[in-house]
Amino acid sequence: MSAQQISILGATGSIGESTLDVIRRNPDHFRVVALTAHRNARKLAERCVEFNARLAVIGDASLEDELSGHLDELGGRAEILSGEDGLLAAAALPEAGTVMAAIVGAAGLKPCLEAARRGKKILLANKESLVIAGEVFVAEAQRNGAIILPVDSEHNAIFQSLPRDFGDGLDAAGVERIILTASGGPFLDWPSERLAGVTPEQACAHPNWEMGRKISVDSATLMNKGLEVIEARWLFDAHPNQIEVLIHPQSIVHSMVAYRDGSVIAQMGTPDMRTPIAYALAWPQRIEAGVDRLNLAQMNDLVFRAPDFERFPCLGLAFAAMRAGENAPAALNAANEVAVKNFLEGRLGFDRIPRLVGDVMDRLETRPIRSLDDVLAEDRWARRAANDILARGP
Ligand code: NAD
Ligand code: MG
Repeated sequence: MSAQQISILGATGSIGESTLDVIRRNPDHFRVVALTAHRNARKLAERCVEFNARLAVIGDASLEDELSGHLDELGGRAEILSGEDGLLAAAALPEAGTVMAAIVGAAGLKPCLEAARRGKKILLANKESLVIAGEVFVAEAQRNGAIILPVDSEHNAIFQSLPRDFGDGLDAAGVERIILTASGGPFLDWPSERLAGVTPEQACAHPNWEMGRKISVDSATLMNKGLEVIEARWLFDAHPNQIEVLIHPQSIVHSMVAYRDGSVIAQMGTPDMRTPIAYALAWPQRIEAGVDRLNLAQMNDLVFRAPDFERFPCLGLAFAAMRAGENAPAALNAANEVAVKNFLEGRLGFDRIPRLVGDVMDRLETRPIRSLDDVLAEDRWARRAANDILARGP
């Protein structure tokens, strides 16, 4: 394997740090050329120095001087860029054939599209991009020969469980269904009445995975699984009826593919994002990821059951948005981002997250999505609608 040159967008987050950890263990295979962060200038500078990156991008342009100061202090020589243009430059860097897309939320969309336009190998953690702009993103990648490799553990598991020559689609591969597993989050067995009192700290304390705060809340509402359903629809060109969700509280089976002949192929591993990250980084080869090995002899309680759509309405809202298509997933995602932000900042009860998203979706009129501008317009519309509803109070 010759050394891949890689640009990591969202390098200071949970996925970004895990990616750097895998690269640290495989120094001969990878060369980090660019790193980006939103506001954590100190950590960004430290990582740029450690990995000798030639470009450092801080999303919040007001922190450029701070980043420069940290780099000077640490003896770093990286060129500094900032803001959206800087993020796009990191995604487009000619020497970086690979781009790890690990920004959280819709903020990752434009850099992802830029990487697609430049024909990069995109290691996609930023599921929101595919959720809101699936058709536009996939078309852009196809037009320019970009490859999208899933980092999300479920989609990575599905990718590992599909035949290598999957290019002709699910039907040609004999696939009947894709089964996404979900841990169910920290409130899996809580009665609905208790959900109103959930605090941000409780919601962010996931039983199996350590993740950023936004995706932790999404996991607790099951919106994360809903977004993943839409993500799977685009990644694998699946028909909406081919995608199922199964609760599996142990997070050992990361997802499954069910075939026409009755076979079900699953991928298993300890719940550690370094495994799917390593697979995406090294594909089609395998590298050391630093994860604990699975001890199946000690596992006698792998449980599977159907999700409860009543206690976790976000899952049903996402299925409905996938089936509706067009602007519905972009609106769903934007409304959810507003709801999660307000929940994390203490202004919205946990049980009101699905209600707010549902209220926005009730107001939505179907509009076609043909371009990035259409996506951004829907995103803005849904954020405004969500904020209007919030401003009117409960
Ligand atoms: P995180 O909050 O830990 O990190 C987010 C990163 O994006 C940080 O580097 C931050 O600086 C940057 N960022 C945030 N807002 C930004 C903005 N407006 N502009 C530019 N950069 C910005 O999040 P995470 O948990 O690492 O998740 C990243 C993505 O990966 C999300 O889309 C998430 O759904 C997905 N994902 C995460 C996990 C996980 O285990 N953490 C698993 C599967 C998928
Ligand atoms: Mg996932």
